[in-house]
Amino acid sequence: MRLILLGPPGAGKGTQAQRLVEKYGIPQLSTGDMLRAAVAAQTEVGKRAKAVMDAGELVSDEIVNAIVAERIDQDDAAKGFILDGYPRTLAQADAVADMLAQRGQKFDAVIELVVDDKALVGRILKRAEEAKAAGQPVRKDDNAEVFDERLREYYKKTAPLIGYYYAKGQLVGVDGMATIDEVTNEINGVLAKLG
Ligand code: AMP
Repeated sequence: MRLILLGPPGAGKGTQAQRLVEKYGIPQLSTGDMLRAAVAAQTEVGKRAKAVMDAGELVSDEIVNAIVAERIDQDDAAKGFILDGYPRTLAQADAVADMLAQRGQKFDAVIELVVDDKALVGRILKRAEEAKAAGQPVRKDDNAEVFDERLREYYKKTAPLIGYYYAKGQLVGVDGMATIDEVTNEINGVLAKLG
């Protein structure tokens, strides 16, 4: 199964992706996690991406597409994967469509987590507080100032993907304001219907 989770920062994509990993045994491919790993490892990509990420802006399509193209060819992704935080621009959506077409694959669904903007910043701040309380590193972009920019980037560059996938008949909207378990159940229901 190949899925895309779409939604603004704080919509719950990562949380739901983890649940899907457990249920379906396919990996979560989070470009945010991959980029943060590159930053931590101080690779060339990481060095190029760091300032952009810290500012809440999007890393270039070229960098992100290359990371994904390499990742989907790894053995654990052969049976499927959940894309979390990718694609985030129309150019990325076209690029990943080409990648799958070249491999004779297709997406089973694009799940949009529909959330109320007003709830998002609170969720992000809560995530930062929880990480701090657990003694884990707090993401540099999980604060109110950078969040504003991340949301602007979302509306400018990512929200057009809703129309893009709707027009392809692949978009399924799920109420992301429900509890985590309810959202999981709704997603599982959608996937069960797909067979
Ligand atoms: P995330 O963990 O998905 O919230 O991503 C954190 C940051 O990584 C974003 O604010 C961007 O700077 C960068 N990033 C992650 N995924 C992408 C992507 N698909 N395209 C461009 N930048 C990305």
